[in-house]
Amino acid sequence: MNGILTTRGLRQVVTIVVWPMAALFTVGCEVTTSSSNDESAVETAVPTEQVDLSAMERDERFAVDAVDAFWRKHFPETFDKAYQPPQVAGGYVGTDGPACAGDASVPYNAFYCQPGDFIAWDENLMASGYSQIGDAWVYLIIAHEWGHAIQARLNSDQVSVQAELQADCLAGAALQGAAQDGNLTIEPGDSEELAQTLTAVADDYPWTDVSDHGDAEQRISAFNTGASGGITACIT
Ligand SMILES: [Zn+2]
Repeated sequence: MNGILTTRGLRQVVTIVVWPMAALFTVGCEVTTSSSNDESAVETAVPTEQVDLSAMERDERFAVDAVDAFWRKHFPETFDKAYQPPQVAGGYVGTDGPACAGDASVPYNAFYCQPGDFIAWDENLMASGYSQIGDAWVYLIIAHEWGHAIQARLNSDQVSVQAELQADCLAGAALQGAAQDGNLTIEPGDSEELAQTLTAVADDYPWTDVSDHGDAEQRISAFNTGASGGITACIT
């Protein structure tokens, strides 16, 4: 994916359809379970020195701008109330990130902190996915955490008990919608990268509660629902 500031191609916007690719995902990432609002994390360490940090940070900015622009435009018209963006606490490393309700940041994690109304991510988590999967990783992580911020702005009866799947759905709506609004360019390979990302962060393990998290196929399906049906397809 790319922000419009650097890509001026005339590519037609097509709906992102993400196919399950679990069998092809072999980079050896380990998924951990996590508490409350924390995101599942890839544990494979890729030192940030091994990636083009300026390119990755540019993609982070593009993702924030595109996702924020999408919600700024479509949240008010969909929910008939004003939109206030969450704060973006941005990248941290390890435990030096912003605390959430007194809890220190978790290494290799990305999260939305509801008490502080901010999203944050570990740059090493971003670098791992960015180098092993591609730039779509960055866009999905940010769009997903933004989805949790959107959930916090909804009426309680609009928030799915399957909060992670709904956040994936809202991420699909936001990224596809941003492309349709002309704020994001979908590039060849993005669908595969998104599928790999959703697979990597899926709680596809027997000890997790699939009723509120979802396995890789459920997460991919949820993303596709939002990408093809828009925001309202994600709302219960
Ligand atoms: Zn989440």
